[in-house]
Amino acid sequence: MAGLMTGKRGLVMGVANERSIAWGIASALAAEGAELAFSYQGEAFGKRVEPLAASVGSDFLVDVDVTDDASLAACFGALKDRWGTMDFLVHAIAFSDKNELTGRFINTSRDNFCNSLVISCYSFIDVARRAADLMPDGGSLITLTYGGSNRVTPNYNVMGVAKAALESATRYLANDLGPQKIRVNAISPGPMKTLAGAAIGGARATFRHTEANAPLRANATLEAIGGTAVYLCSDFGVCTTGEIIRVDGGYHVLGMPQAENL
Ligand code: NAD
Repeated sequence: MAGLMTGKRGLVMGVANERSIAWGIASALAAEGAELAFSYQGEAFGKRVEPLAASVGSDFLVDVDVTDDASLAACFGALKDRWGTMDFLVHAIAFSDKNELTGRFINTSRDNFCNSLVISCYSFIDVARRAADLMPDGGSLITLTYGGSNRVTPNYNVMGVAKAALESATRYLANDLGPQKIRVNAISPGPMKTLAGAAIGGARATFRHTEANAPLRANATLEAIGGTAVYLCSDFGVCTTGEIIRVDGGYHVLGMPQAENL
């Protein structure tokens, strides 16, 4: 089935290492023929991303901190100079102070609330606007969310509020950009063993709980998330926008744990 992404070019934001969700998505898109650019945050991550990008035939890497307008402008300037236009963008970026991803949500500080929402939600709006300027023939924008957005998940705290805002932003962006044939969707995987995932208090217990209780009795995989991204970025997803697509083994349909786990 190779070739679903042949002729399409896009930017993948948020690869930190080979366990990153963004890397699962990049690998799947590249396997279907997509041409990729990568943004990474800072030199240390750049060293890790470079060989990964090379392994899928890309030497197009840009250092971007989404709180820094100059680096964003440089990134989209480089995309315009090199490609002129682009077809898709993957936003797999989130951040909160680790100290506030444990304990009671009520203790969220104003500073971390603002920082988390700016990095984890506003940045998607920002890059959507910049990417749309390079999509005269339509395109596909994807972000990553988590079910803690609408169901209380211990320790997820301010990130749950940030993901709720991100999901709402996904719908508003979908409506704004629909007339330009630009689709905007979010993928909502279950817990994954990544750097960001490990920062959340009780991450291992959450991982085990989801695996033991999800209807499929399995956690998401990078391959499954990548496959969903291929659907959304390829022409097969051409009539899907404003959606939050769960890739969580069905965990979100549950009202309570499985009988064997009570
Ligand atoms: P990850 O640590 O591999 O990726 C997070 C990325 O965010 C890193 O590359 C990091 O450099 C980047 N980032 C953070 N602040 C940034 C900034 N200011 N500027 C630029 N980049 C910045 O972890 P991941 O789990 O692959 O996370 C990717 C996305 O998936 C996040 O939105 C996360 O919330 C979401 N997600 C993760 C899980 C999980 O369990 N790991 C589940 C559902 C959704």
